[in-house]
Amino acid sequence: MNTLPDIEFSEELIRRYDTLGPRYTSYPTADRFNPEFTEQTYMDYLAQRTAPGIKNPPLSIYVHLPFCESLCYFCACNKIITQDHGRTTEYLRYLAKEMALVAARIGPDRRAAQLHFGGGTPTFLSPAELRELMAMLRSHFDFLPDAELGIEIDPRTVSDDTMAMLAELGFNRTSFGVQDFDPAVQQSVNRIQPFEMVEKAITASRKAGFESINADLIYGLPKQSLESFNRTLDRVIELAPERIALYNYAHLPSRFKAQRLIVASDLPSAEARLQIFLMSVRRLLDAGYIYIGLDHFSKPDDELNKARLDKTLHRNFQGYTTRADCDLIGFGVSAIGKVGHSYSQSVRTLKAYYEHLDADQLPIEKGFVLTDDDVLRRQVIMTLMCSGPVDFAAINKAYGIDFNTYFAHELTQLQHFVEAELIKVDAHSIQVTPKGRMFVRAVGMVFDKYLAQQTTAKYSKLI
Ligand code: SF4
Repeated sequence: MNTLPDIEFSEELIRRYDTLGPRYTSYPTADRFNPEFTEQTYMDYLAQRTAPGIKNPPLSIYVHLPFCESLCYFCACNKIITQDHGRTTEYLRYLAKEMALVAARIGPDRRAAQLHFGGGTPTFLSPAELRELMAMLRSHFDFLPDAELGIEIDPRTVSDDTMAMLAELGFNRTSFGVQDFDPAVQQSVNRIQPFEMVEKAITASRKAGFESINADLIYGLPKQSLESFNRTLDRVIELAPERIALYNYAHLPSRFKAQRLIVASDLPSAEARLQIFLMSVRRLLDAGYIYIGLDHFSKPDDELNKARLDKTLHRNFQGYTTRADCDLIGFGVSAIGKVGHSYSQSVRTLKAYYEHLDADQLPIEKGFVLTDDDVLRRQVIMTLMCSGPVDFAAINKAYGIDFNTYFAHELTQLQHFVEAELIKVDAHSIQVTPKGRMFVRAVGMVFDKYLAQQTTAKYSKLI
């Protein structure tokens, strides 16, 4: 068993507790969103922010920029593959309309603590268009002085000048899609980006003053082996990003058309994936990275780790964050929002998006209104996802319940995790042990009342 100060993991534990389950970037999970949640429901929640006497949380803003020049075969994102850069002009025009409609509903308190550009490929937009989009956002929202402005970067699409321009626009965080450096793997997923290219982009980000750089890696890709991924890790560790996300490739060709281009016989076996995962975790910990949770690692002095140690870590649609609860406003196709006790999601296609906005309607397709029980369970599950502890007295005070009575059934179900020493439960709290940190979603699933009503087959595993 590998033992480090605050995490213990072993092959045997992973084989036993790596169950299919949600990643809980929200609770209830997005598959519960339904079309009874309409544009009107969303507008009612936005309007609640203008009610007198309400102390609004600041905003977190997400902008979905769906265009990409070429298709990566592993991709599960909502994207549009095109070489025609002219298509962004029209998209920006509609984003401007959506922003104006939403801003008018929100009222005057439009402080923003976070901004994230995701995609697609945000840098498919030209420098002038990125400037225009930021000016648009700044005309509607007041970014707090310490706001986090993040952007996803495809290293194939940027120059040194791009990174300098993004820093000048106020971006201070960036996330690079690295995935794997092996040429055979890159070839088999149609994403060719040599080490030197990524190194150059990361060096340019540092030079431009970006405070935090994240690298996304994917294991389980075709043609990957223990040896090849070991070499990728050598190079990633050499680049020393502040954060690393180590994602598991889920091969679901029936759901994601792009994945049908992957040759299934090139995929590593389940056993090989497990060994690649184990090796990766060991190597990242040995290199001084700290395990934050699920598939996320950071350097010890990164804000994420500080928040983890202070017990102020949060989880939202973008993963782990240091920011306390914000209302999330999503712009663009398929963007997700969270306002008050509601979740919402916009239509997925450009056609539907443009049609709604042409009719002066917000492009809401579906969503979810949380009950008091959902809000309470969300609090418990998110606390567990951030490695706890779940403090019963604090929950009792906030929700007017008696934890031990309200969750009597769930506490019984937790018993086998207690026996396996993944958690400790006493009269006052649930604590996640170093052994349990990798399996918090299995523990969280006990509190998910919707899981009991459906199969978990559509969810992924950690490995
Ligand atoms: S992985 Fe990123 S760059 Fe590749 S097709 Fe998907 S969204 Fe586009």
